[in-house]
Amino acid sequence: MTRQTQTPVSAGSTVPDDFSWISNPLDWRAIDRLILLASLVMIAPVMLGATLLAAMWLTPRFIDHGVGVWLLAFYAVHAIVLGTYIAVAMRRRHESSDWPALENFVVGSFVINVLVGSFLTGTHFSQGLLLIFLGINITSALANIHKILTAYLLVCVVMMVFAVIDFTGAVRTAPLFAVAPITPDGAPVTGWLAVQVTLGAILLAISRISMAAISRWVEREDLYREMSTIDGLTRLTNRSSFIARGQSELSRARRVPAHVACVMVDLDHFKRINDTWGHHAGDKVLVVASSILMEMARQYDEVGRYGGEEFAILLPNATIDGAAAVAERIREKIATTSVEVDGQKISMTASFGVACYPAPGIDDLNDLLKAADKALYEAKESGRNRVVLARITEDNQNPDVGMVADAH
Ligand code: GH3
Ligand code: MG
Ligand code: MG
Repeated sequence: MTRQTQTPVSAGSTVPDDFSWISNPLDWRAIDRLILLASLVMIAPVMLGATLLAAMWLTPRFIDHGVGVWLLAFYAVHAIVLGTYIAVAMRRRHESSDWPALENFVVGSFVINVLVGSFLTGTHFSQGLLLIFLGINITSALANIHKILTAYLLVCVVMMVFAVIDFTGAVRTAPLFAVAPITPDGAPVTGWLAVQVTLGAILLAISRISMAAISRWVEREDLYREMSTIDGLTRLTNRSSFIARGQSELSRARRVPAHVACVMVDLDHFKRINDTWGHHAGDKVLVVASSILMEMARQYDEVGRYGGEEFAILLPNATIDGAAAVAERIREKIATTSVEVDGQKISMTASFGVACYPAPGIDDLNDLLKAADKALYEAKESGRNRVVLARITEDNQNPDVGMVADAH
């Protein structure tokens, strides 16, 4: 049984039509998500470039000047192109909702930027991989997952190439450094230690954003799953997921083999409650009746809202007599409960139809639901506020109504 405690969700509350800075970025249009992503990626050339510039200025003897200038130019070009993309995207977002070229550039340039920087400092197998891992994790929540997969594959290939280069010594390790930033006894020089600490702080910030992005994603998944399986008013399983659970219980029961019982419930003269007390009161009666069904069913039973004021309970491993006993207890509880709305006490009753698989003529879920529905119809016809069982006798092979349980 699905027991939910959250407050009801309204379908319109999660997907805003218009972009807003305070809403969930996962609900933004693609182009707005990409502008956010490009702004985050901008951290890479700006921070790495600033660190390199400071190192070249403060500790020039440690840096290979030629490689340093080349790398600075690379960071500057990356920042300028990325900045231009962001500026153009800010204009384009008024006319179009997506821009795949920006997405390609953001993902591709981030990967190249980190790989180049980490290779030149000899940290590609530590910080480099970590930066890419975190960066791409954020990106996967905001951009196209196929592009992320391509980026991961590309990084795998490049890492293999780096491993070969490291192994063969074809290129000097950490070519950015003129002097190794690690002393012969293995301790890092002060400046390099400062760079490592700064990088660690940036990685920490990025991992925080990565976690926020992923948890937002999980939240959204949960919300959408809930919206597609739970009835917003009563918090019961909706009709389609009740049927899906029924199908899987029936196939399990066929394999074991085992019984599966079904109870159909319909509130009596509900239209009268609406007409007399108003729709608002009718809704409250539905909510109270639903909570009685949830409380009185067993943990593994499925209680669903089958229609307007019609409910269905699926009872795996219950015989028809067991299900009839449950139905009778629920009937009594509903009949003795009154719902208070605006100081007025509204009483209610319900009718019940019970059927069980397997039985002659009940071979699948459709037969089971039909037989329970037919018994429910008989309960209505014979006076309401009662439980009727779809009993199948040997000489009557149709799942016809055979016995009326005494409700009074
Ligand atoms: P019976 O005893 O034969 O079942 O009579 P009934 O009045 O309960 O059945 P009928 O099918 O004539 O009316 C059902 C009413 O349920 C009509 C519909 O407006 C109302 N209804 C359906 N869904 C909702 C809902 O979500 N909220 C409220 N307040 N009323 C609903
Ligand atoms: Mg009714
Ligand atoms: Mg009805």
